Amino acid sequence: MTQPWNPSFEAADPQEIRSMQLAMLKRTATLVYHRTSTYRAMMERQGVRPEHIRSLEDLRLLPFTTKQDLQEHYPSGMWAVSPRAVSRIHATSGTTSKPVLVPYTDDDMEQWGECVARTFWAAGVRHGDICLVALGMGLFTGGMGHVEGARKIGCAVIPSGSGMTERQVSLLRDLRATVLVSTPSYAVTIADKALSMGLDLGSTSLRLGSFGAEPLTPQLRTLIESRLGIQAVESYGLAELMGPGVAMACQGDCGGLHINEDHVLAEVVDPRTLKPLPPGELGELVLTSLQRQAMPLLRYRTRDMTSLSRRPCSCGRTLITMSPVVGRSDDMMNISGLNVFPSQLESLLLEVPGVEPFYLFEVHKKGSMDALTIQVEASPHRDQDEQLLVRRISHKIKGTVGLKPTVLVRPRGTLPRFQGKSYRVLDSRKPKP
Ligand SMILES: [Zn+2]
Repeated sequence: MTQPWNPSFEAADPQEIRSMQLAMLKRTATLVYHRTSTYRAMMERQGVRPEHIRSLEDLRLLPFTTKQDLQEHYPSGMWAVSPRAVSRIHATSGTTSKPVLVPYTDDDMEQWGECVARTFWAAGVRHGDICLVALGMGLFTGGMGHVEGARKIGCAVIPSGSGMTERQVSLLRDLRATVLVSTPSYAVTIADKALSMGLDLGSTSLRLGSFGAEPLTPQLRTLIESRLGIQAVESYGLAELMGPGVAMACQGDCGGLHINEDHVLAEVVDPRTLKPLPPGELGELVLTSLQRQAMPLLRYRTRDMTSLSRRPCSCGRTLITMSPVVGRSDDMMNISGLNVFPSQLESLLLEVPGVEPFYLFEVHKKGSMDALTIQVEASPHRDQDEQLLVRRISHKIKGTVGLKPTVLVRPRGTLPRFQGKSYRVLDSRKPKP
């Protein structure tokens, strides 16, 4: 197993990490209290002052921060520096609501590049690799963040952005790209386009994919690996905390993603009671910035559902691990009293032979009852028996989730192909925003 990108932090003694975290937490609490009137008010309401933070457990005294807090104080009410100290501004990818602006100082940019470089390195990306970054290059943090990290490692970067999929396939082929960076959904779309162009991606130089911004279920990973002829590696990040680079999968045996603990302090809480949960229990990931200057966040509620573990990993990293995200707490659908994540349905669908990775889930009312309709595309085999496919899907979902869905098989190419994050759930029970 090769060394981590930055062993002095990634493989540090856990005790050392904890004392480093405490010093940084005290500094961050002091910074936001004195520089951000919003945080000062929030901390005063909670009856906490920076000097009350004497141990890492005192983190629990600090207030939670939500996306609504950031939206309410748009554009710069949560910034801890003056606009003159800001060298870059990104934003969250919200399409319907007010965006959240994410400022960076020069030092924040430097740290961001470092964290993304760690992510790439852990995935197996090396100097000399040719990285096609097929993620939004504008305000979205995904594209530019990965460019920053790949540059640090010494890769040739192709910042192709999202969209114009035929061109993406041509670039992959013609420039002999070895690494693809995208959302899992877009990787599937690229594979589909390559197929329609008569190109077998397995015969190209592509060897590795780094995927984030959406859950990468084991079933989806297997599908992407076989269709693109690559090893698929997951990464985790969110714009509010910096963007990509928060946590990374490794080549070791932990089965999760190592969190860059010298940059963020992680907790998992019960999303209803907000009580911290012990390691191994599934709950909402809450992150506190430790090194950010422009917009440090205290106990930011990510809405992502995961669990934490301190189990040692064979890769040599001592950083805490989070299990792969199963979904967002606000994506969880309650259908007839059953809690279901879209990623769960996706996993089940992809286990049924003959199902293509293109589908939509519709939750609606049928009389007074909740109902689930699943639209899927079938593999283009001439002997595909549609009725048998419908029965298999229905049986699989009913047997595991306990819901009997209506399944509609659609002709190939008719369901949406996504170029960034996918939006596969239509819930007509919810009022329109
Ligand atoms: Zn590891």
